[in-house]
Amino acid sequence: MAEYIVHGDINCPFSYALHEMLCSQNLMHRVDWRMVEHDAIASSYQDSAENMAELANDIFTIRHRAPDITISLPQTLGNSLFPSLCITAVQLKHPDRATTFLRSLYRALWIKGKDISSPAVIYDCLEEAGLPIELDIDGLCEETLLYQQNEWEAHNPGLQTPTIQAQDGRRLAGLLDQKSVLDFLRGAEINQELSSRSRQQNQMTIAIYGDEKITELWGVLATLRDDSNLLLPQSMQALHDMLLSQERCPDLILLNNTGQQRDLNDLCRAISHQVREQRVPIAVIGPPISDAEEVELYELGIADYLIQTRAPDIIRARINLLLQLKSAHDMLSRAASIDALTQVYNRREFERYFETEWRRGQRSRQPISVILLDIDHFKAFNDNYGHLQGDHCLQQIASTIQASARRAQDLVCRYGGEEFVILLPETNQEGASVLAEQIRQNIVALNIPHAAAFAHQPVSASLGIATALPANRDLSPRQLLQDADSALYKAKHNGRNRVERLTS
Ligand code: GH3
Ligand code: MG
Ligand code: MG
Repeated sequence: MAEYIVHGDINCPFSYALHEMLCSQNLMHRVDWRMVEHDAIASSYQDSAENMAELANDIFTIRHRAPDITISLPQTLGNSLFPSLCITAVQLKHPDRATTFLRSLYRALWIKGKDISSPAVIYDCLEEAGLPIELDIDGLCEETLLYQQNEWEAHNPGLQTPTIQAQDGRRLAGLLDQKSVLDFLRGAEINQELSSRSRQQNQMTIAIYGDEKITELWGVLATLRDDSNLLLPQSMQALHDMLLSQERCPDLILLNNTGQQRDLNDLCRAISHQVREQRVPIAVIGPPISDAEEVELYELGIADYLIQTRAPDIIRARINLLLQLKSAHDMLSRAASIDALTQVYNRREFERYFETEWRRGQRSRQPISVILLDIDHFKAFNDNYGHLQGDHCLQQIASTIQASARRAQDLVCRYGGEEFVILLPETNQEGASVLAEQIRQNIVALNIPHAAAFAHQPVSASLGIATALPANRDLSPRQLLQDADSALYKAKHNGRNRVERLTS
């Protein structure tokens, strides 16, 4: 008896993804995989381009959450009853081949994009699994499938697929990331609300918005799906929310011109205003329009007008060009704010951020702290080991500081030479002291041997802390930095490898 019962649908991409996760971890022998038919999916995905767009959305979700899984968008989804019956028949009559057959069918659909309701495709899969082509689908198979369907519906009011049921009563529904699935199989309770949605790294994201007429873009979507993460916000509000969120903000916005020129203009105006700072390009796709109309759109801030009837490859090339521009812009703005040697922020970025945070502190009446850090006897280190080794030491210390300051709003910067500054918004002196002491200890723990004269001590740093309430109008950012510098001087004076604050 298997430890877990899975209810999965052949036509459900999330079920396929779970199946692949279990296969890759050699865990299929621990589950009893029972086919069900997800009615809504079986009927609604089919052939309607609109629902294919919804299916595309699900596939993008899988690519985000489970980037290791190979999945592509099938051209069509056939009726799942016949393949489900075949799987059930194999499970009943050739249990030793059942896992292989299931895998072969799932992959025929979700990797090769075949129509698995077609007998020819099923024969191929039977052959691949070493099974006879004459499969006896009798009443027992139908009854079993029906029983599984009732069982799944009775325990799953949300009608999600897949579901995993453990013998101890724990349940998992829908697709989760691999870690959550493995934790669940190790006996953990999974809080499904917290399951992570990670964006697929190093692929750019396109948000496509087009009212109900998004279906007309299906051909274009299909050409873009392999290179990019596609997001299809279902409403204007969803699009706006996406643009507001730092984490989910797309790299390109593609708007569908549905023919309402005035609405389109308003939308372009609103969106280009919203994404100006991040420089997200906006492209509009639609039927040919007059020169005057097109010029107006450019004036409203769009980057390109794409004519929908052109070859999908042309549209794809132009979209890729916009993505390249965005990527170049991102790289430049990142390069301009990052210190090349240590990969922490540079002084310019520190100054920009310090000013913003100071103003925020004035409004919020919260304290702000800075820590200035200077490596001890670093000149001697360079003299003894050479500058290359010195650079390496700086890199190690920078990463240690970065790893120690874990709050999202903390900013670690190389202030110059072998000095670093850590800006801690909304942090009082006590909080800053705890962190500074932690950083000091973490640097010593790196245990980097020092030059001969300091042979018994590893490389260390001295740290000076200052805290201020920006709401107090007598204070200034410059004064705060000077205070931190004085505290640092005190730390050096008192013997180095220590944290000091000004007691004034
Ligand atoms: P103290 O404990 O008083 O800070 O002594 P120190 O030797 O660290 O102080 P000082 O300011 O005299 O020397 C700083 C040295 O840091 C000078 C320079 O050789 C080294 N340094 C500054 N920037 C770099 C860099 O980018 N790479 C390397 N390898 N060394 C650097
Ligand atoms: Mg120095
Ligand atoms: Mg120094």
